[in-house]
Amino acid sequence: GFLVQARDAVLSFGQTPALQGANLSARAGEILAVTGPSGSGKSTLLHCLAGILVPDSGEIWYDGRRIDTQGEPERSTMRRDHFGFVFQFGQLVPELTAEENVALPLLLAKSRRASALAEARSWFGRLGLDGLEGRRSGELSGGQAQRVALARALVSRPKVLFADEPTGALDSLTGEHVMDLLVASAREEGTTVVLVTHEPRVAAYANREVIVRDGKVTPLFVERLTS
Ligand code: ADP
Ligand code: ADP
Repeated sequence: GFLVQARDAVLSFGQTPALQGANLSARAGEILAVTGPSGSGKSTLLHCLAGILVPDSGEIWYDGRRIDTQGEPERSTMRRDHFGFVFQFGQLVPELTAEENVALPLLLAKSRRASALAEARSWFGRLGLDGLEGRRSGELSGGQAQRVALARALVSRPKVLFADEPTGALDSLTGEHVMDLLVASAREEGTTVVLVTHEPRVAAYANREVIVRDGKVTPLFVERLTS
């Protein structure tokens, strides 16, 4: 069975077609790489799967429920309770410390501040961030900031982690370190990962890879059995 699925998703931005009948499924626990050229519709597809955008036609399913027919308040609650997000840039709130940034999803879900911060801190050692709890984003390197963003995405133990070019702003060595941690954490937690990337080295971390061209998902090229 699958956990997330797009069926014949079509979406245009004005006259610009972004999705033209995209079909994609991710099974529970798998790490799926979505690759393809710039402008092919990868981010739009991820945003539809994550309930951020609603396609003009077609269906989006999550865990046996159709989500594209739900209203924004329902989708927003679902994103908060089930999904984590990592993007390329600008993810941390600059006014907050690293540990406050990580605690944010728990605080938004109405956890008590002390327990949210304790849970947030527990991720620092795991991601090699010891000692950085009190720093603000301006005082972190790019790789450190991206690991803090990863901790924030995982702290609420999401069922699905949506990662859109998570290493796009990092040099290749730092990017590989972040991907190692992302994949290891996701495997430990059994998180399903939908990973958008145009970098083959990043896609190589996935169990399975699909390619998007002109708003359609072409049949997969690679199935990796290592996990
Ligand atoms: P990718 O992630 O593969 O680079 P996108 O999904 O970002 O592709 O974009 C698909 C197409 O939709 C592109 O032609 C892009 O310019 C266009 N597009 C994406 N987002 C918007 C937007 N908010 N407004 C207008 N056009 C957009
Ligand atoms: P990507 O790395 O996915 O190609 P882009 O740089 O194309 O990212 O897009 C970054 C942001 O700008 C996204 O939120 C996307 O929706 C938006 N965007 C992309 N193309 C356009 C466009 N032609 N007009 C307006 N917004 C766009």
